[in-house]
Amino acid sequence: MSIADNLRRLRAELPENVTLVAVSKTKPVTDILEAYEAGQRDFGENRIQELAAKYEELPKDIRWHMIGHVQTNKIKYIAPFVHLIHGVDRPKVLEEINKQGEKNGRVISCLLQVHIAEEESKFGFSASELEEFVKSGGAEAFPHAEVCGLMGMATFTNDGQRVLREFEGLAQLYRSLGSTVNKPWSILSMGMSGDWPLAVQAGSNLVRVGSAIFGGR
Ligand SMILES: *Cc1c(COP(=O)(O)O)cnc(C)c1O
Repeated sequence: MSIADNLRRLRAELPENVTLVAVSKTKPVTDILEAYEAGQRDFGENRIQELAAKYEELPKDIRWHMIGHVQTNKIKYIAPFVHLIHGVDRPKVLEEINKQGEKNGRVISCLLQVHIAEEESKFGFSASELEEFVKSGGAEAFPHAEVCGLMGMATFTNDGQRVLREFEGLAQLYRSLGSTVNKPWSILSMGMSGDWPLAVQAGSNLVRVGSAIFGGR
């Protein structure tokens, strides 16, 4: 199956309202161009330097998503053009995005990353940290960094019930907190190659799919 075939099949299976971000990390620009030719415009990378380098080489109407862990000292490299930063996992990151957004005269859209998996290593706000942060106005304190929703990753397991439960928990937080802010949230980023059907079932409206489009890494 070609990249274009994989994209067509995925697009056909996804509900209309779900944005497909093609995760191109570690893949060459030729692969990205193949997806681009097939009509794909949203691409995701998990390392800032790789994202910035690919931005330079590729068509300028691509919407670039930063989906990985964000190092604050590198935000400046993507601040002029990035479409959405998914991995805001602590207040300090939002503060720095705001600073860089202001420097570039733009409002940078962001998602707060929530820790929903059982694994210890994953980044993100816990549910209670998130509630406290949002209820105290932290998510709305920065005019150049706009929080538009949440992002999360489920536990890497074959236990579908468990994965679904974790996604449902995140969707619940998204609905309950996202309606209390002045500008209601609109993006719930969850689901990858192995679990996107469960994420969509739980209410995701943005999936980040890599290997099911570009092949294994
Ligand atoms: C790599 C990555 C993905 C895509 O993973 P696949 O299993 O290849 O679909 C999605 N989200 C994040 C945060 C990633 O790092």
